[in-house]
Amino acid sequence: MKDFFDDRIIEPGFLEEDADVALTLRPLTLDEFVGQPQLKENLAVSIEAAKKRGESLDHILFYGPPGLGKTTLAQIVAREMGVNIRVTSGPAIEKPGDLAAILTGLSQGDILFIDEIHRLSRQVEEVLYPALEDFSLDIIIGKGPAARSIRIDLKPFTLIGATTRSGMISSPMRDRFGMLMKLDMYSAEDLAKIVIRSAGILGLEIADQEGPLEIAKRSRGTPRIANRLLKRVRDYSQVLGDGSVNLEAVNMTLEKMGIDELGLDALDRRLLKAVITNYGGGPVGLETIAAMLGEDAGTLEDVCEPYLMQIGFLNRTPRGRYVTQAAYEHLGMKMLDSRNGNQTSLY
Ligand code: ADP
Repeated sequence: MKDFFDDRIIEPGFLEEDADVALTLRPLTLDEFVGQPQLKENLAVSIEAAKKRGESLDHILFYGPPGLGKTTLAQIVAREMGVNIRVTSGPAIEKPGDLAAILTGLSQGDILFIDEIHRLSRQVEEVLYPALEDFSLDIIIGKGPAARSIRIDLKPFTLIGATTRSGMISSPMRDRFGMLMKLDMYSAEDLAKIVIRSAGILGLEIADQEGPLEIAKRSRGTPRIANRLLKRVRDYSQVLGDGSVNLEAVNMTLEKMGIDELGLDALDRRLLKAVITNYGGGPVGLETIAAMLGEDAGTLEDVCEPYLMQIGFLNRTPRGRYVTQAAYEHLGMKMLDSRNGNQTSLY
C-alpha cells in the first residue's frame, strides 16, 4: 500500500490507484471532454464525415505528455463511431505474429489503439505499413529457399496511436497517419472544471470555488494529476476535516504531500537545484542530470521536463538543459552572472 502522502503523486503516468478513478471519471463523449477545443472540433468533423460516407475513420496519432487524455479520446472516438476498440501498446506487440493475430481479429471499422506506439519494433512496423495502407498483411511462411509470402486481406480499420515522444516515431510510420493531433497542457480554468465534474461523480461536496481552482493550479496542466489530487484531498478531508472540498483542506493536503503552489514536487526541486548548484544553472545533458539524481532519464523527460518547460523554468537547447531566472526566483536562489560559481540561497 502506498504512503498516504507519497511524494511521487505528480507522476503523470498511470498508477494502479487510478484504475477505479479512470473507469468512473473518464468522460464518455466529446461533449463531456473538457478543453482542447481545436482538437475536439477537428475530430468531430472527421467523425461526422466518416459516418456520412459510411467509411472507417482515417488513422490518427495523438501525441503529448502523459495524463492529458489520449486514451480517453481514443475510447470516445470508438463510442462516437459506434465501433469496437481493441487496446494494446507498443511493447506488448513483440513479434509480427502478435500483430497479425490482432489485425485479423478486427471487424469492419473497428479501432486498434496502440499506446506508446514509438516503442513498436522495426519488424512489427514493417508488417503494419501495408495493413494501414491497403488493409492487407504480407506474411512470410517457412524459412530459407522454401520461404514464401502470402497475402491476407483485412477488414478496413482505424489505427489510433498514442505517444509521449512524437520525435521517436519513424517518419514512414508518421506518414501513414491521416491526422496528427497534439494535446496541450490544460489551463487552470479547464482543470477546475474537470475537478468539479469529478467531485460531482464521486459525490463530494464543494464548499468553496477556491478549492477546485487551487487543485487545478497545482496539477501541472494534467487532468490525471488533478483527479489524483482530488482523491487525496477527499481522503484528508474525510479523516481530518468536514469531508468537503475546500481551500483549507486542499492547502493542508498538498503541503503534506510536498507539492508547492506551482505544482512542483520534491523531484522537480531536486532537479532544478542540482543543475544550479553543480552546473551553475546549465547547460547540462539530460543523462548527467539523471545520474546526479539517481533517476531514469526517460522518467525525467516524461514526468518533470514537460511541465518545467511549460512554465518557463527549464530550457532545452542542443547543448543541454539550463535553468531560467524564473526558476531561481521560485527557489529563492541567486543567479550569478558568470553562471559558473556557487549559488547562494536567499533564505
Ligand atoms: P493519456 O492516455 O494521455 O495518458 P488518459 O486518457 O488515460 O491520458 O487520461 C487520464 C485521466 O484523466 C482519465 O482517466 C480521465 O479521467 C482524465 N481526463 C483526461 N482528459 C480529460 C478531459 N479532457 N476531461 C475530463 N477528464 C479527463
